[in-house]
Amino acid sequence: MIYLDNAATTRLDDEVSEAMLGVIRNNYGNPSSVHALGRESRVLIEESRNTIAGLIKVRPSEIYFTSSATEAISTALYGAVRDLGITHIITSAIEHHAVLHTIDAIRKQFAVQHSFVRIDKNAQLDFDHLEELLEGNPNSLVILMHANNETGTIYPVSKISKLCKNYNALFLTDTVQTLGKLNIGFDEIMPDFAVCSAHKFHGPKGAGFLYVSGRYSIKPFISGGGQERDMRSGTENIYGIAGMAKAFEVAYRDMEKNTVYISKLKSYLVQKLRSAFPELIFNAGSDVAGLYNIVNVSVPEVYKNEMLLQNLDINGIAVSGGSACSSGTTSVSHVLKAIYADTDIPAIRFSLSKFNTEAELEVVVQVLKRIL
Ligand code: PLP
Repeated sequence: MIYLDNAATTRLDDEVSEAMLGVIRNNYGNPSSVHALGRESRVLIEESRNTIAGLIKVRPSEIYFTSSATEAISTALYGAVRDLGITHIITSAIEHHAVLHTIDAIRKQFAVQHSFVRIDKNAQLDFDHLEELLEGNPNSLVILMHANNETGTIYPVSKISKLCKNYNALFLTDTVQTLGKLNIGFDEIMPDFAVCSAHKFHGPKGAGFLYVSGRYSIKPFISGGGQERDMRSGTENIYGIAGMAKAFEVAYRDMEKNTVYISKLKSYLVQKLRSAFPELIFNAGSDVAGLYNIVNVSVPEVYKNEMLLQNLDINGIAVSGGSACSSGTTSVSHVLKAIYADTDIPAIRFSLSKFNTEAELEVVVQVLKRIL
């Protein structure tokens, strides 16, 4: 299998699985127990928190472990509306469904307005419009992703954060696709909230966190035994948390090397696709811009573009057409629809990782030559 669906999820790093296995075998004590085994588990959790906090330059007390980025987004959005007086949410239409569908759900329960900031054909934000929205709507929360999971489009989050501060608006940034890939220091971005998902950078599934700036306090999302400083009750996922911390360590240690390697792979793929299929459309400028591991192309009708993903799958190549969907189906991407007003041209998202090679990409292009 040639796996090019790394924006959906990644293969666990061997160093991470080794670290997790040790914890699974030995650290079965409940972190809330007062005996030695329990205390060991507690130490492991707090060491993991310290490791992550140090790398992203925040205080350990600002990190709350969750089961996923989706849970973290939901916690932050509900908390901001319920506890921090937010009455207006600003997003782009290309945010993840974890954001857009949660806002829809919140608006059924609370009197909250939702505005979309305009974007252009390269999915870039219209800053004047963002400022207009902030000016006209006090008590706003802006939620914008650092990098888009389908096109790799990168938003200038430090600039957005500064603008939000000028208007006393809260800023939540979805850093799911960039944590572990870009050297993010939250001391520079200064978001009020941010979210992480370990499985996007060779960590385990079922582990993530919510960053909440120490300036704010929201009420618990899950009540019970008072874990995570009473923010998220439930016995902690020690293996996942330790695995996430290890994945962070490995990602930050090897970041420069991996960035160079994967960027080269991306250039190689773009160049091969361009020369083999001149009519391909590189969505949102993903051939020359955006995150270094994502290439998103639309395949127009001059090619035989039916059942694309299935045909690639039959040939042992795993890619996506849009974002991974829990039902396993693929529908026309809401991201591409938002960028191009309306489109039903089939699209392929290639998302690369450090485990891919040029030889694999060569096979992919050869297979595409047969299919298209
Ligand atoms: N936000 C973005 C940009 C994503 O790509 C994803 C995962 O696909 C999520 C949020 C949700 O992450 P999780 O799988 O941890 O719920």
